[in-house]
Amino acid sequence: MERQHTEVVIAGAGPAGLALAVELRTHGVEVIVLERLAEVDRRAKAGAIHGRAAEMLDRRGLGGAIARVQDSIMAALGKPAPRGGKGGGPAAQGHFAGIWALREAPYATAGFTLIPQDRLEEVLAEHAAGLGAEIRRRHELVAYEQDGTGVTLTVDGPDGRYELRAGHLAGADGGRSRVRKLGGFAFPGTDGIITSYQALCEPDDPDFAPRGWNRYPGGLLVNGPVPRRLLMVEFDGPPADRDAPVTLDEVQAAARRITGTDVTLRSAASLTRFTDNARLADTYRDGRVLLVGDAAHVHSPFGGQGLLLGIGDAANLGWKLALVARGDAPDALLDTYTEERRPVAARVLDNTRAQVALMRPGPHVDALREIFTRMLDHDGANRYLTGLITGSDVRYDLGSAQDLVGRCYAPDTAVRTPEGDVRLADLQRTGRGLVIAADEAHAAVAEGWAGRVDVVAGTSELAPGASILVRADGFVAWTSDDPAPLEDALTRWYGAARVPVA
Ligand SMILES: Cc1cc2nc3c(=O)[nH]c(=O)nc-3n(C[C@H](O)[C@H](O)[C@H](O)COP(=O)(O)OP(=O)(O)OC[C@H]3O[C@@H](n4cnc5c(N)ncnc54)[C@H](O)[C@@H]3O)c2cc1C
Repeated sequence: MERQHTEVVIAGAGPAGLALAVELRTHGVEVIVLERLAEVDRRAKAGAIHGRAAEMLDRRGLGGAIARVQDSIMAALGKPAPRGGKGGGPAAQGHFAGIWALREAPYATAGFTLIPQDRLEEVLAEHAAGLGAEIRRRHELVAYEQDGTGVTLTVDGPDGRYELRAGHLAGADGGRSRVRKLGGFAFPGTDGIITSYQALCEPDDPDFAPRGWNRYPGGLLVNGPVPRRLLMVEFDGPPADRDAPVTLDEVQAAARRITGTDVTLRSAASLTRFTDNARLADTYRDGRVLLVGDAAHVHSPFGGQGLLLGIGDAANLGWKLALVARGDAPDALLDTYTEERRPVAARVLDNTRAQVALMRPGPHVDALREIFTRMLDHDGANRYLTGLITGSDVRYDLGSAQDLVGRCYAPDTAVRTPEGDVRLADLQRTGRGLVIAADEAHAAVAEGWAGRVDVVAGTSELAPGASILVRADGFVAWTSDDPAPLEDALTRWYGAARVPVA
């Protein structure tokens, strides 16, 4: 059997796998992406990404491309494009169980960016390929084995079976991940209790249900927000057969049961069925094999958090894997990927479970929703819940008492340099770490990590007067208000200094 070599193989060209390919190619790491489908899956899934996910892509230079997709959608709807966050006024931050009251995101972040998942995958694939990632469609990973120096993969391609040898394998192959199953990763959690459908279709009576979220004794039906989109939930157990093809008759029967109408649905452009099983891998890493995106965590899509998690995983793992693959940082750096990202996913699983509980029919839940809605009039409660859903309040425990350390900086944050203000995201395009040095001694120290860390003389809007170290994923890793010296933080995240620190 023919055998080829590369530094990293990514199984799965969904949003998480492609975002990881972008990260790795930004660092010049050789990447092959294996995708079993011949082309992008056009079924309607996510329709938008949260601000933090858009910000992560902005750091890699994709802000313009995703904004253009949003603009084209809004133009087609005849509406002005929303501009959330800084300078754009308050942005809608989403909903919790259909309660549309989230507005107060802590730790500044923009609102939603509208981008259908298939368009996002196209934007990511084009960018990854432009950076030199090799994306092999109709190539399915069927088996792998790892040893002390790499991973040997067996792949079924259009011209037959072949072997690939890689330094690392990233399983970004979705909720039913073969990488996870073959690797024996434990995936504990809770079983589904709902049957849900998302459809793009034509009801014979467009007013058979009011626009927006409608709770009925028989379940929930969301009409919109884009024309022809219906989302339905019944709370009487998971689908009998999750693998059976979804039919329009099945979706129509659910719509009739829920609304008590005799609506007829036609011209289905997309039909998907899902449930709310919520499971989380007990580790995201086993030696040279890593799990990314839905391969590591599954949950219901309420609140639109799947892409936020997957893109966040890729942003967290990409620079670490690049450093380890190149021998620039010790292997143990990869353990911080599970340590940082797993608690974030655990929180999402729990909030999606809570949303399902709050969406159930009946007067008891009606009363609970009423109380919940009133509580969201209070700024503190609103901030808490908005932080939960948007992920803007995520803080990795990096062992510092400074609140700033472990938090993600908004890309619009101004960095004051002697030459004028610069946008933080624009300083992070290289994918390297960034020391914003308020004093010359810190700049001199950071020179020891040249090639892995960039240095800019200045100070940032959020930490005036202090020097800070910002990682490639936008998270602050150190500030000069910390008692520990910069050398320690640089060594921890970027390996040993290349030249001795003076
Ligand atoms: C109806 C619905 C609505 C949703 N709405 C939202 C939303 O509004 N917001 C949101 O953020 N999320 C939403 N989600 C969730 C979101 O779609 C997922 O979180 C997201 O697709 C996960 O991305 P991923 O790259 O991890 O996995 P996937 O998108 O599943 O990609 C995995 C890829 O791996 C490929 N693959 C699988 N096995 C192999 C193999 N052995 N070899 C090679 N390739 C393989 C697959 O073909 C696929 O392309 C929704 C999901 C559904 C079903």
